[in-house]
Amino acid sequence: MIDVVIAGAGPNGLMLACELALAGVRPLVLERLPEPTTEQRANGLVGQVIRMLDRRGLYERLAGTPGPPRPAPGFTFAAFPLDLHDLPDNPLYTMLVPQRRIEQMLTGRAAELGVTIHRGHEVLGLTQDERSVTVEVAGLAPVEAAYLVGADGGHSVVRKLAGIAFPGVTRDDTVSRTAHVSVPASMVDAHGALHVPGFGVLPPFLHTRTEQGLIAWAPMPGRAPLVSVGERYRPGDDVGDGETSIAELRAAAGRVLGADLPLDAPDGPGPHLLRRTVGGNTRLASAYRAGRVLLVGDAAHVHSALGGPGLNLGLQDAINLGWKLAAEVLGHAPPGLLDTYESERRPVGRRVTMHTRAQSVLVGPGGEVTALRELVGELLALPQGRRHIAELISGADIRYDTPGVDGPHVGRWAPDVPGLRELTRSARPLLLDPTGRLDVGPWAGRVDVAAAPGLPAALLLRPDCYVAWEGTTGDGLPEAMAAWFGRP
Ligand SMILES: Cc1cc2nc3c(=O)[nH]c(=O)nc-3n(C[C@H](O)[C@H](O)[C@H](O)COP(=O)(O)OP(=O)(O)OC[C@H]3O[C@@H](n4cnc5c(N)ncnc54)[C@H](O)[C@@H]3O)c2cc1C
Repeated sequence: MIDVVIAGAGPNGLMLACELALAGVRPLVLERLPEPTTEQRANGLVGQVIRMLDRRGLYERLAGTPGPPRPAPGFTFAAFPLDLHDLPDNPLYTMLVPQRRIEQMLTGRAAELGVTIHRGHEVLGLTQDERSVTVEVAGLAPVEAAYLVGADGGHSVVRKLAGIAFPGVTRDDTVSRTAHVSVPASMVDAHGALHVPGFGVLPPFLHTRTEQGLIAWAPMPGRAPLVSVGERYRPGDDVGDGETSIAELRAAAGRVLGADLPLDAPDGPGPHLLRRTVGGNTRLASAYRAGRVLLVGDAAHVHSALGGPGLNLGLQDAINLGWKLAAEVLGHAPPGLLDTYESERRPVGRRVTMHTRAQSVLVGPGGEVTALRELVGELLALPQGRRHIAELISGADIRYDTPGVDGPHVGRWAPDVPGLRELTRSARPLLLDPTGRLDVGPWAGRVDVAAAPGLPAALLLRPDCYVAWEGTTGDGLPEAMAAWFGRP
């Protein structure tokens, strides 16, 4: 019997495979597509996941520099510029990187860790009982596994086969058009801003909202710039059918800006993006687990791509699940550990659906929205307002429930201390002990210990870098290790 089958070799399935392998479980990944997709989706990462990748030694593989990553001086929320340059302990990290590169990097990492990926094999069916789950796969004999994880995207077959509902809303009153383009060089200034005669300035990498819609201008380094235009439409409006075109995008930009934006076909090597999307879904799985079947990533949640929150959410689902599922498979998980995957991550998914829906309203047309924006703009001018939003969209405000354990860091992302990014690469539980006096006793084979001079108290870190215990004496430490990492 196979320990874990993962359906889907998208970013989240691949990340889960790497985390399981680090914890000593080699999953089998089944991917429907015979070759990696050429579809263009994410252009970047936003939030805590960038720091998490750094703590696995993966940031440098994407960035091509050793790191550590630095916080972003600014970002965007609901087409407001979010100035963060003066925010103490700015929690927001961003990284421009195409999804294809992330998938390539994770595929390479999974191969290094000995993970098997079978491409061209679609999961078609499943049956489960108390002992195992049997997976029906195109082109293979049925596979029996202890667990099956659906990392098979928003249309997840695994979710449907497991009988997990996907409640939420489908909007059908929006149309967005996105393309790589070229614009006259004279319109772009030294800071990358686009000057549109008759309208004004479109700042780079930010959304600009008008009462007619939303436009984003992204002068991508080393490739053709990207323009994206979103509009509302009423039933009966002609949104175009068949393939979209640069002319259609130019017309949409003209409607939104009230001025002509002379867009042309992109120069340079492709593949170039040209896409029209009508409507959108916001949905959250009613459960993240049904017996021996679990969901990660888009299989568990879909929402607007405004602000790029998808991979911050999905990759950290995978990192939360990996060590817990591995402990379960290896037989040392404490009771209820696997259920904390849903109790911790589903509320985070719900919060992302909340802020993406709120942003969708704030970028909509109409005078009421303009008034609402004036008010939200005033709140965002306050340092507390900017911090709140930066923590929300980065996920730095997450505090997992850790009953009976107190301390300012408990349940939170472990603070940066010198050397931590090397210590967390192995994805093992870790005691950071500034006292030099604490002892993990019989957990020595499972919990690493490192000196951490300068920390005011010792911290017990879970493999996903969240703090499970904090203290200056060893009071409660054995109980915390037993609660999260099992009896020795
Ligand atoms: C236009 C667009 C722009 C985006 N921009 C950003 C951004 O800038 N930043 C960001 O963080 N996120 C962004 N996202 C979201 C991000 O792309 C998704 O969150 C991410 O792809 C989800 O990864 P996943 O692994 O969960 O699912 P997917 O990427 O959908 O991968 C699922 C995999 O499962 C395979 N599969 C499906 N069914 C089966 C089956 N039955 N058996 C076996 N395999 C199967 C599929 O072929 C696929 O390879 C964007 C999304 C879109 C659509």
